[in-house]
Amino acid sequence: MARLPPYQFGIWLAEYLYSHCQLCHIQRSMLHASVASACTSSTTKSIFTAFNNGLLCEHCQHSISWLPDPLAVDIASNLALPIQAATFYDYPIRQAFRSFKHSEDITKLPLLIHVLRQLPRPLGCNGSNSVIVPMPTTDNRLRQRGFDPVTILSSYLAKHWQIPLWRGVVRIDSTVSQQGLTRSERLANLDDAFMVTELPPAKRLLLFDDIATTGASLQALARALYGGVDTQYGANTGYDSANTKSYNHSFYAYALAHGSS
Ligand SMILES: [Zn+2]
Repeated sequence: MARLPPYQFGIWLAEYLYSHCQLCHIQRSMLHASVASACTSSTTKSIFTAFNNGLLCEHCQHSISWLPDPLAVDIASNLALPIQAATFYDYPIRQAFRSFKHSEDITKLPLLIHVLRQLPRPLGCNGSNSVIVPMPTTDNRLRQRGFDPVTILSSYLAKHWQIPLWRGVVRIDSTVSQQGLTRSERLANLDDAFMVTELPPAKRLLLFDDIATTGASLQALARALYGGVDTQYGANTGYDSANTKSYNHSFYAYALAHGSS
């Protein structure tokens, strides 16, 4: 049996029993009342509308800008990394995410999962040719915070896309927090921040981070995979160490939110 993501029971409750919008808390069923009224029992109505509306009411759903233009950062001279976010890092997602990340406020998790579900599964990617690579954290950060938001969110993304997680990269503890650093400082801070510990089991690597402020962390992770796999496992993968021509992995990156509208 597949392992359930953390807090799955609470998410089921939010989806199927709590029939209010996760943002404005009005009854989610209001705008679909005419269709739902065709159902006979109130339980059926509640389940019907929960399936159709997601976790937000129609008004809130339309008040948020989904799928902003991707950011693009470079991995190597001829290789770009597109970073697709589900939405902008603005109100109300920003406040909900900060509450979740810094105070472990899990009442915000249904909203954040709803945001993640706006990311369509990448074209051509499936459970046999792709893996999701969650942004690794360090033991120190995990100890300080007590939980890891990326681990929780990425497990819901894996479920949404039906693509497995792969954790073959570790984060070295010597880097300082990225908060408050400029883009170039962030990149310099991330030099040698990641170490690839095993060969990826699939050709398509879907990197995931919670918030892509400048994309520097995802860029460094992609570079570590590109360079690290090349140097450690080059003979097995057919990489051309001089350039990207025979490189046979492809990289895409995803985030809950990035930038600002
Ligand atoms: Zn609403």
